[in-house]
Amino acid sequence: MKFFCRHCDKIVAGKPYRVISEEDGVILLDMTVCRSCDKQARELGLYSEAISLEPKRGSHRRRWAFAPTAGG
Ligand SMILES: [Zn+2]
Repeated sequence: MKFFCRHCDKIVAGKPYRVISEEDGVILLDMTVCRSCDKQARELGLYSEAISLEPKRGSHRRRWAFAPTAGG
């Protein structure tokens, strides 16, 4: 798939990764990057994870919140 790498600042093909930097519960960095940037981030000691593109199980369209008036 294609996605926008926030570090390369361009559209790249492949698997997206997410690089997160957190300190004392504060998110300092949270960006979607390509594989090579992910590698760089890991070398710098940042936390990264592969982004799962699989659709969530059991997800279904939520009904519009109509409130039918029964009995009237
Ligand atoms: Zn990149």
